[in-house]
Amino acid sequence: MSSIPIAKPMLGVEEAEAAYNTILTGWVTQGPRVQEFEEKFAAYCGAPYAVAVSNCTTALHLSMIVAGIGAGDEVICPSMSYIATANSILYVGATPVFAEVNPVTYNLDVADVAKRITPKTKAVLLVHQIGMPADIDAFSTFCKQHNLILIEDAACAAGSSYKGRKIGSHSDLVCFSFHPRKVITTGDGGMITTSKVEFYERLKLLRQHGMSVNDRVRHESGKLIFEDHIAVGYNYRMTDIQAAVGIQQLARLDDIVSERRKIANYYHEAFADIDCIRLPKEADGYFSNYQSYSIYLLPNAPLTRNELMQHLLDDGINSRRGIMTSHRETAYVDLGFDTVNLPVSEHAADNSIILPLFVPMPQADIEKVVSAVRKHLGYA
Ligand SMILES: *Cc1c(COP(=O)(O)O)cnc(C)c1O
Repeated sequence: MSSIPIAKPMLGVEEAEAAYNTILTGWVTQGPRVQEFEEKFAAYCGAPYAVAVSNCTTALHLSMIVAGIGAGDEVICPSMSYIATANSILYVGATPVFAEVNPVTYNLDVADVAKRITPKTKAVLLVHQIGMPADIDAFSTFCKQHNLILIEDAACAAGSSYKGRKIGSHSDLVCFSFHPRKVITTGDGGMITTSKVEFYERLKLLRQHGMSVNDRVRHESGKLIFEDHIAVGYNYRMTDIQAAVGIQQLARLDDIVSERRKIANYYHEAFADIDCIRLPKEADGYFSNYQSYSIYLLPNAPLTRNELMQHLLDDGINSRRGIMTSHRETAYVDLGFDTVNLPVSEHAADNSIILPLFVPMPQADIEKVVSAVRKHLGYA
């Protein structure tokens, strides 16, 4: 018996053909397909500019650099996030300062963030956790008041929107991931959207070794051009093969999100009467792509989170523990972050579970997940 996976990328013949055709053009990295993907992604989000990079972690790293964050600075972020969020702060020599999240949305709690400001605080790294938008307006107001830079980790949030506008259109540095575990994928890949032309130019420079002239300009020029390397840059390029796949994925994004939301709504309704779990909830103006569907076991649950996960696995259903906390991972314990006290984040991380959700998901699989969860929670 094959088991139900937790996630599955939605890739088809169109993506395969796009990759095939790109390979045959002979231009396989950061060329015309990357430029097309950037233009289409920016237009989709309603952002003036987009810069494609190798993944969201490199997108976050470059965002820290162009925001001017460095040694001695502090950046406030959630611990309850994928570890790359906090790592990107360490890469530039700055210190992540972990703040609490709201236990319903798993997004940063602005009141708790306020308590952690020091004279060294330079930025807030706001995560739209598992696709649920954070309160961007509250954080932009807060950051303006305290003269802080706002950077969005929208790794999971392509296709989500906040107050009627797509994530990617609200602030100056928004970072996306196209890892297969996200809603659309290019194998690996990332994108930064920005409204600032200075950031746009600087991001393009840094992702390609700090080279003053890009390959495309040199290739198309009728005159001899020699490049100069005007900054110590990185190789964070996306390939044209990835971008060609990304263009096809972007064309499907709204349909994928709509299908994901149908499944999420099915789960909402099927679990509505269970009083020992908390379900994800969209407040007015919030539109999630449901990159993941997480349920939170309350203290009155008849079994522990890990017991529930094991029972589901025995039934042929894969689940995952909820979002991790970074400060309890060995790398951060070794850096001394284990003294950080975040009871809300720790409780949420230890008692939540992510259920299978992918497109297309057979109705029989959806129903199997529902009946297994209900059975194990005593709601057969
Ligand atoms: C997946 C993820 C990342 C890392 O994205 P990559 O493209 O794998 O580098 C960063 N932040 C969050 C919140 C994520 O979920």
